[in-house]
Amino acid sequence: MNQIIFAIALFITLGIFGFTTWRYVRLFMLTKPAFPVRNFGKRFGLMMKVAIGQTKMFRRPILGFIHALVFWGFLVILMGSIEMVIDGLFGFERSLAFLGWFYDFMMGTGDIFALIIGVAILVFLSRRLFMHVKRFEGIEMKHISHIDANVALTIIFLLMVSLLGLNATYVAKQTLVNAEIHGIFPIGALISQLFSGMPIETIHIYHEISWWSHILLIFIFANLLPYSKHFHVFMSVPNVFLSRLEPLGKLTNMDSVTREVKLMMDPETAYAAAPADATVERFGVLDAEDASWKNYLDSLACTECGRCTEVCPANITGKKLSPRKVMMDLRARMKEKRNGLLKEGKEFTDGKSLIRDYISEEELWACTTCNACAQECPINIDHPKFIIDMRRYLVMEEGSAPGELKATFSNIENNGAPWQYSPDDRLLWAEDLEMNKV
Ligand code: SF4
Ligand code: SF4
Repeated sequence: MNQIIFAIALFITLGIFGFTTWRYVRLFMLTKPAFPVRNFGKRFGLMMKVAIGQTKMFRRPILGFIHALVFWGFLVILMGSIEMVIDGLFGFERSLAFLGWFYDFMMGTGDIFALIIGVAILVFLSRRLFMHVKRFEGIEMKHISHIDANVALTIIFLLMVSLLGLNATYVAKQTLVNAEIHGIFPIGALISQLFSGMPIETIHIYHEISWWSHILLIFIFANLLPYSKHFHVFMSVPNVFLSRLEPLGKLTNMDSVTREVKLMMDPETAYAAAPADATVERFGVLDAEDASWKNYLDSLACTECGRCTEVCPANITGKKLSPRKVMMDLRARMKEKRNGLLKEGKEFTDGKSLIRDYISEEELWACTTCNACAQECPINIDHPKFIIDMRRYLVMEEGSAPGELKATFSNIENNGAPWQYSPDDRLLWAEDLEMNKV
């Protein structure tokens, strides 16, 4: 009976998760190309260093270390969850125990990590609920963002409590009937003392409650994550793996513009390079579907930690720009348009756009392109690239730019340089110099 209930729960979980994943895949298919994914060795090294090693988190040693422990603990505990799925489906108990010392090691570290994560989550929750942490505030941090974070943290805490309960009741149960204990549970063994003197039936009921609450929480959490800021639990590792490998400050050329320039310089080469049916798409980014798959992945991976905004010189000096908001706005806009886009494709419009309805021109032009945000982001999100693409839309499609820039643009157009002097007058400054008199 238990196996049937478990199989139904697993089937529902996988069904909902599959449906959500399919919707995300279809949204990604509507986005634009970003860059070819090559250099797998380099990417793997980066992923191990930044995502698994959590190196950027250690810039704040104490909190970074606590966060890293939570992350590493999750990886270890994942193995126990896989075992629970096998046990639940086939009616086994501790089905991976045949792994011997490795199993003992994983169970032991998982048991200790459950306690560490539980305590760390309490610290994180207290910071969010009772401390005034500037990084967690800002116009983009709406009430729902805080609720979202607190709900996810509470579920993680309950996951750890149920896991410790599971380990403790397992140790108590096996000890009472003198059966072999598979795995090592230092924390579970300590907690198991609370059950001494209880009849085996009562301990068994507690064990069942712990087992089912733990696995059902995992199932619920897995399906809540894609709709929460904690989606980064899934997305941050692939996002780091798919980081842009070029230097942060390097601006990419737009293929369509490159073709136009080639056309002017050498028509035959340009025609040869351009496909006959090449259609000129929108220049830059106006709305969510103009973003590249990497921009969209960035927005889904964003943890809303605020480290980018905290170092942004524009934000620090009181400008409206917040790089975290830019990422959150892209995610929110895609979510708002999602059903229409999935139904009608890229042609769908609801009369709104990412620029102006979510991100103002003032915010976009406040960016100094210093790349501090991208440098600081613990999961290598590239905000400036996206901001520049939105500016490109404003300039190239609407001719919209701050007055100073417009003057610069027209100088470049007329004089071939940003200054308001004719190219013929460029060397006037040198007329009276000695070298000219020789
Ligand atoms: S690149 Fe722009 S958004 Fe990022 S920190 Fe610098 S000014 Fe802020
Ligand atoms: S973009 Fe990066 S640094 Fe900024 S809030 Fe998101 S995860 Fe944190």
